[in-house]
Amino acid sequence: ALYSDSAEAILEDIERQFHLDADVLVSLTKAYLDELAEGLGAYGNALAMIPTFVTGVPDGTETGTFLALDLGGTNLRVCEVQLHGDQTFDLRQQKYKVSEELKTGDASALFDYLADSVDAFLTDSTTTAAPPGLPSGIPSSLSSPAISSPSIDTDPPALHLGLTFSFPVEQKALDSGVLLTWTKGFSAKNAIGHDVVQLLQHAFDKKHMHVKCVALVNDTVGALLSRSYTAGGCILGAIFGTGTNGAYVEDVAKITKLGNSPAAARGGQMIVNTEWGAFNNTRSHLPTTPFDNKLDRESINPRFQAFEKFISGMYLGEITRNVILALVDAAPQPVLFGGKATDVINKHYGLDSAVMSNIEEAWGASDELKAESAKIAAPTSLSSPRWESSLSPTEGVRLQRVREVLVAKLGFAPADVSLRDAAVVRRVVTMVAERAAKLSGCAVAATLVQIERAVLGGGPSPSPRKGEDTKIGVGVDGSLIEFYPNYERTLRESLRLLVGEEVERRVDIGMAKDGSGVGAALCALQAIKQE
Ligand code: ADP
Repeated sequence: ALYSDSAEAILEDIERQFHLDADVLVSLTKAYLDELAEGLGAYGNALAMIPTFVTGVPDGTETGTFLALDLGGTNLRVCEVQLHGDQTFDLRQQKYKVSEELKTGDASALFDYLADSVDAFLTDSTTTAAPPGLPSGIPSSLSSPAISSPSIDTDPPALHLGLTFSFPVEQKALDSGVLLTWTKGFSAKNAIGHDVVQLLQHAFDKKHMHVKCVALVNDTVGALLSRSYTAGGCILGAIFGTGTNGAYVEDVAKITKLGNSPAAARGGQMIVNTEWGAFNNTRSHLPTTPFDNKLDRESINPRFQAFEKFISGMYLGEITRNVILALVDAAPQPVLFGGKATDVINKHYGLDSAVMSNIEEAWGASDELKAESAKIAAPTSLSSPRWESSLSPTEGVRLQRVREVLVAKLGFAPADVSLRDAAVVRRVVTMVAERAAKLSGCAVAATLVQIERAVLGGGPSPSPRKGEDTKIGVGVDGSLIEFYPNYERTLRESLRLLVGEEVERRVDIGMAKDGSGVGAALCALQAIKQE
């Protein structure tokens, strides 16, 4: 037999390590709220709680045309955004690859590349007819509003650009912020401690480009603003993609670290970028497994972004790979693949979290299938000698589909993957993703508690004036929440457990489509209004 009777016991032991019960979720949410309060009170804490100087959210009536540049994830994007003022917009965008050399080389090369990309985007716009007197290649929609009487010897006015820069930045003003640290695999030299708007503007100026960066936005703020524009209101923007982070609307009076600055004196509300990926950096609330520790040790930022490493797309595949490796190497006998591995499995970050989605889809994560599988008798323990013969026909078909994914995506020969392997990997994948989604629910729940729209443990909101019966808008972005089967559902289960069903039902989670582009445009608009 390929498997010892201890296979089930080994797997169950790992599943126990990944399981988060209600008590743990509650205490994690409390711990998160403590770190959040510390971050609002002083600079330099684990949760950076960055004041963004964005002092309101849009309602959908905003208008204008702007450039947006988005750096912070897998791709670099340049967009032109037209806000129509009726909750709709037009967006034209181009994606550019960011190579490992650029991510890890010198910052000047990275920012020159950003400027080159914007230049290429504008040059590419030759299809948009430029009015007479304008240099060709600049989209007329961008330039025309300001050029009412073009003259030959005056330069066209600069195009306004919003930079979505999704790394921890200590913001000084809407158009100024110093990079605190890199995340998500970036480590370019000579950037930390510098103003990223200046770095970008310098790169534009060197190339004599008529582009002015007027606003610096985090992608979470972008998600919040753009969802608010299209939905007519929103209180939280959250990203579950390569990384994870959230930004929410806070009372300025509670951001006590603003001291007696002009922003504090002005009062009202301000969007705070939590940088929640760093929750637990300096504590140890998260129930950490050896698989997490391995990931952290081998990462380029050990002990940083602790929460993010449990949650985001960049890491879920790697955690899963670590568990699979342990099962391949299990003693006294392998639990997976008869002890064989492939190049994909042996390679650091070789397993993409998108493959986990593929596995879940193959297993059949739809509600219909879930209901069907609930009818099937409880899954037979892997150690049952008649395991395969005990499978129902439906289960057999579904495992067969999972097996095909493993062959196609992990590089196994068909003969090396049994249905039992498929069943084991599917359980591993689900356990890793469920933990991530439940933890994501803690961050959302804590935010609702912080802004007095919910009470930890459930019950009516403490602050009825803040809209007891209305929906609570949450704008989200990222492949994980968009595509991962059941991610949002599990997040909601965790939320329900933490703040009660009544509040959870009113939470309206919606994709902030093109959030970074539209958000940057909305922020650029706010910036030029303040000029
Ligand atoms: P970014 O956050 O970089 O802007 P995405 O939101 O697309 O971009 O996130 C990319 C991350 O999501 C990568 O880590 C990738 O592995 C992961 N990913 C992409 N597609 C899927 C999917 N279908 N299911 C789960 N994870 C995915």
